[in-house]
Amino acid sequence: MNIHEIEEKVRSGARINEEDALFLFESNDVHALGRMAEIVRRRWNGNKAYYVVNRHINYSNVCEDHCKFCAFSQKAHEPRAFTYDIDEMLRRAEEGASLGVVEFHIVGGLHPDLPYSYYVDLLRTLKTHFPDIHLKCFTAVEISHFARISGRSIEDVLKDLIEAGLGSLPGGGAEMFAQRVRDKICPNKMYVDEWISVHRTAHRLGLRSNATMLYGHIETPEEIVDHIAHLRPLQDETRGFLTFIPLRFQSRNTRLEGLMCTGLKDLRVHAVSRIYLDNIPHIKSYWTMLGVKTAQVMLRFGADDFDGTVLDEKIVHMAGSTSPKLMPASSIRRLIEEAGREPVERDTLFNPIERRNPLPASLA
Ligand code: SF4
Repeated sequence: MNIHEIEEKVRSGARINEEDALFLFESNDVHALGRMAEIVRRRWNGNKAYYVVNRHINYSNVCEDHCKFCAFSQKAHEPRAFTYDIDEMLRRAEEGASLGVVEFHIVGGLHPDLPYSYYVDLLRTLKTHFPDIHLKCFTAVEISHFARISGRSIEDVLKDLIEAGLGSLPGGGAEMFAQRVRDKICPNKMYVDEWISVHRTAHRLGLRSNATMLYGHIETPEEIVDHIAHLRPLQDETRGFLTFIPLRFQSRNTRLEGLMCTGLKDLRVHAVSRIYLDNIPHIKSYWTMLGVKTAQVMLRFGADDFDGTVLDEKIVHMAGSTSPKLMPASSIRRLIEEAGREPVERDTLFNPIERRNPLPASLA
C-alpha cells in the first residue's frame, strides 16, 4: 500500500479501511492528508464553514467520579465546587436568550445528591421560558447516571427528557474507547458498548447527537483509529450523528498534567477523521480546546464547523485553556473567511439562519 493508492480510493468515493487510516495517521505527507480531507469535506459541505450563536451552561461541577484527565470536577465541600438551582439556571439562560442565542449547551458532573426530577424540571422550565431555543444537553455518561439514580431504563430516561424539551445530545463522555486507555484515565467510566447503546437508543427515538474523542494524552495511533472505527458502523445503521468532535486534551490542573499534544497531531486527527468518517456530515474544529489559531488551520484539514460563541466555557478553562471564554460572531466570520471558507450561521441541526435583527454588541 502507498499513499497514492489511498488517495485514489478517496477520489473515487471508495471507503478507506482501518489499515489505510493508520497508514495516513503515520504519514508525514500532511499535504496529501489535506487534499484527501478536502475531497470528503467538499462532498458534504462544499466551501461552507458553520458556526452557531450559543451559550454553554454547566449546572454543577460536583461529580462522584474522578477521571484523571478532568480539571472540572470537584467534591461538594471543595472551594471551587458549584451547583446551580433551577432559578439560577434560568437567570443564566435568560442572559443568553437576551443576546440572541439559538442553543443552550448544558452538561455537568455526576452529582451524588441532585434528584432525577431536577434534570427533568430543568429542561421543562427552560423549554417553557425559551420555546425557540434548542436544548442540547447531557452526555451519555450523564444519561446513564440518571438511569441509575431513577431506576429507569436508558430509553425511559431519554423519553422523559425529550418530553421535557431535550433537542439533542452533545456527544461527550466518549473520551477514548480503547479499554486500555479508559482503565488508565477514567477507570470508572461506562464501557464503550454502553456509550454506543445510549446513542443508538437516542437515534432510534429521533434525537440527533454528536460524537467526541479526547486525544493528545496516552493514546496510540491504533487507539485513535479504533475509536473512529466504533463510530462508522453505528452511523451506517442509524444516520443519527451530526458531527464528530475531536477534543484536544488540556492537561493543566489534572492528574495527567505535563502531557502535551502537538500541532501535527491536531492536523492528523482532524484530517484522518474526515477521510475515514465518510458518513458523518460534519467535523468540528473546537476553538476553545484547540486555540483560535489552530482551529482556523483545521478548516483547511477537514473541519467545516467552528462551533460557536460559547459565552461561558468552564470545563476547558478549568484545565488551563488560554483561549477566550467568548467569541463574537464577527471574529468567527473573519477567521472563517481568512481560511478561504464561506461562513454560515447555523442552528443546532445545521439549518442556515438569517437574522432579522442584528446581534447585540457583545456577541456581534
Ligand atoms: S469527566 Fe465527567 S464524569 Fe469524569 S470526573 Fe469530570 S465531570 Fe466527572
